[in-house]
Amino acid sequence: MKSEIIAVGTELLLGQIVNTNAAFLSEQLAGLGIDVYYQTVVGDNPIRLQKSIQLAETRSDLIILCGGLGPTKDDLTKEVIARHLRKALIQNTEGYKKLLAFFETTKRKMTENNLQQSQIIEGGIALPNRTGLALGTFYQTDYHTYLLLPGPPNELQPMFTEQVRPLLKEKFSSEEKIISKVLRFYGIGESQLVTELKELIETQINPTIAPYAKTNEVTLRLTVKTKEAHAGNQALLALEEKVLAKVGEYFYGYGEDNSLVKVVVELLKEKKKTITAAESLTAGAFQAALGDIPGASMVFPGGFITYSLETKADFLNIDRGLLKKHGTVSKECAKQMAVHSRILADTDYGIAFTGVAGPETLENQPAGTVWIAIASRNGEIFSQKYQFTGERFAIRHHAIMQGCDLIRKQLLRKR
Ligand code: ATP
Ligand code: MG
Repeated sequence: MKSEIIAVGTELLLGQIVNTNAAFLSEQLAGLGIDVYYQTVVGDNPIRLQKSIQLAETRSDLIILCGGLGPTKDDLTKEVIARHLRKALIQNTEGYKKLLAFFETTKRKMTENNLQQSQIIEGGIALPNRTGLALGTFYQTDYHTYLLLPGPPNELQPMFTEQVRPLLKEKFSSEEKIISKVLRFYGIGESQLVTELKELIETQINPTIAPYAKTNEVTLRLTVKTKEAHAGNQALLALEEKVLAKVGEYFYGYGEDNSLVKVVVELLKEKKKTITAAESLTAGAFQAALGDIPGASMVFPGGFITYSLETKADFLNIDRGLLKKHGTVSKECAKQMAVHSRILADTDYGIAFTGVAGPETLENQPAGTVWIAIASRNGEIFSQKYQFTGERFAIRHHAIMQGCDLIRKQLLRKR
């Protein structure tokens, strides 16, 4: 099964947007055991688009087109492929109803060209669009399979994972399956991780280990090719145990769309604990990250952003004299922020971040100096100074990750 991806859009050729759809699709297809041999980008031009399709037909079984399913004049993917296949475009009843309902509820005027969005290629399978209006199409001939997906990633991704994946699995599942598992690590760099796992990596055949460095964290993808799911999973588990025996102290969770903050929110929920925060250099970014996780309100009632010395004193009732004496980038300040915020919000934990995001120094301390403190309801106070490196964004992001890791470890500690 050979596949290829054709991303349609002049914006891509002009460099105005990055072809993230191709990256997403390639990764997904690899996970399904489908080889991707080519990725093409073509502008909104019917002749060149048709040529790209013809070329793809000479070398691929599955041809995935993304973008250009919308209502505007430059959206011509469906029209071109329908003409190429000598098929008509037909209205899909469900999609049409959704289109009408959308214009009814938003009180917007529907125009003739909106009707294109609920059309599919005659004889194809309609792929409903949960987060948008343009339908996708899955169409098969004796020789090829064509998949038409919308351009916006927030429409393409759920359509692929929820509808296309099961379809591809059903129609093309080869005897050999690829199963993979992602392990996530914080507090260890990619090069150190690779060094620690040198032996395992050098002797890998099946399953394989692939490290991947992300912002301030590293993931490992363990992948096995197998004819039998149970045996494959056992092999993955055995390899995982070997990996964790070496670098288990940095491991925090599984999965491609997991994150340290997600793990923290889940743990807080599980342990029925609540948290607040007092943030200086992160200016609310930690709390915003909590808010990104569904159900955060169960564990996070609210918190404080105290950027200046004044707000630290006023919002958190911290003694001005203490702040002036020790400075705001200090152990004393971090501790007081954590303790006072926790009392004010009446939560189980209060976490504080104060430091120098840079690029300038502050209170004679270099960019990247960060104090993090955690106060617990039982009176315990933890505080630690860190020296992060990088640009302003990286420093603030690192502070948040480190804070999450500290809370995670606190929550996992056996008492
Ligand atoms: P719409 O109904 O929004 O017009 P569409 O299916 O017609 O969707 P396009 O018009 O090609 O898709 O692209 C819409 C938007 O989707 C682009 O402005 C861009 O933000 C995003 N997009 C399109 N193609 C890609 C791609 N290959 N990678 C990442 N984003 C993309
Ligand atoms: Mg469009």
